[in-house]
Amino acid sequence: MDLVVGPWGARPVAGEIAVDAAPTETGPFACENCGAVLRFSPGTEELRCTYCGHVTGIDAAPAVVEEQDFDDAVARVGDAAPPSGEVAASCAGCGAGFTFAAPLHAGSCPFCGQSVVVPPDGALTPTGLLPFLVGEEQARAAVTDWLGKLWFAPGHLRTEARGRDALRGLYVPHFTFDSDTETAFRGMRGDVYYETRRVPVVVRGRRTTQLQQVPKVRWRPASGRVARRFDDVLVGASTTLPEALVARLRGFDTHEARAFQSDFLVGFESERYQLGLSEAFARARELMRRVIQGDVRARIGGDMQRITAMDVHHRQRAFKLLLLPLWCAELRFVNRRYRVLVNGRTGEVVGERPWSFWKVAAAAALALVVAAGLVALVLATPVGPPAG
Ligand SMILES: [Zn+2]
Ligand SMILES: [Zn+2]
Repeated sequence: MDLVVGPWGARPVAGEIAVDAAPTETGPFACENCGAVLRFSPGTEELRCTYCGHVTGIDAAPAVVEEQDFDDAVARVGDAAPPSGEVAASCAGCGAGFTFAAPLHAGSCPFCGQSVVVPPDGALTPTGLLPFLVGEEQARAAVTDWLGKLWFAPGHLRTEARGRDALRGLYVPHFTFDSDTETAFRGMRGDVYYETRRVPVVVRGRRTTQLQQVPKVRWRPASGRVARRFDDVLVGASTTLPEALVARLRGFDTHEARAFQSDFLVGFESERYQLGLSEAFARARELMRRVIQGDVRARIGGDMQRITAMDVHHRQRAFKLLLLPLWCAELRFVNRRYRVLVNGRTGEVVGERPWSFWKVAAAAALALVVAAGLVALVLATPVGPPAG
């Protein structure tokens, strides 16, 4: 492994894609005490029996998740499509063979309920993950709390969120990208100045002139360079969840990622990545570009800025493919589905907002009453001749 030294310090860059790092352990994830179903217990390093509570420790792998060199990976896998199709699985508990619906590669056996994890395949495999910290009860409470704060949410949705099957614990694939950028820019800097001008005015019915300060902008060409090192820019690689919703979930502590290990997936579902590496980087590049635009504006300075050209160079690009934990709730109201996501690390909730027709109608009626009151108030105000 090479050590790359830059302004950010020394950083290991893996020369190879870790296709061989895929673990081979897929179970059985059965309780050694009673044989019942085991489940990874959020916030711990343990698998817990769902029947007798017996605990088995996870033999945790080293915590370091290596960044992989982006250019190497692109040269190696090119624009290889993400893995697609159903994943064949066999249950170590009951011996049954079945398939996971795409894009899942982990979940429970449809015959006996035992957890089954098929090691992820494809041109790239996740090298790390953030294990769940937030448990199901805590996630459900967070959703109920979130719904309670939405005044326009229909009341019975809150009850539904407490229902047994409303929540799904899911590991969602994400790419993180690092890039050392240097940007040459050209643009214009605008400085506001004031000109004193004599302008015609009407004072108490008489035409006259007055001196006024009129703002003007002096534009001057500006050019230069800015540099910024990006670290772990996050791009979701799942297409089953609403992209805008997933993008709103931030605050994943990606530096705490653990090396991939099937044990952390036990009792949860997990998806294979569905967005190719190059496409994912294109999204990351756009996110970085917006940040760089802010840098350029700050560097140009002045009161106003125009950017006419930005030439961004990316160097030392690296990436990780990680699995991030989400609790997904699906709420139904008047034949529509509303999705709510809970960050499995922080408990943060984002969701599509269900609107209750009656509450919206009531609010609109109230607004009309207030507006009518204002009109009445205005009409009641005596209108006299202008003062002076
Ligand atoms: Zn047990
Ligand atoms: Zn089974």
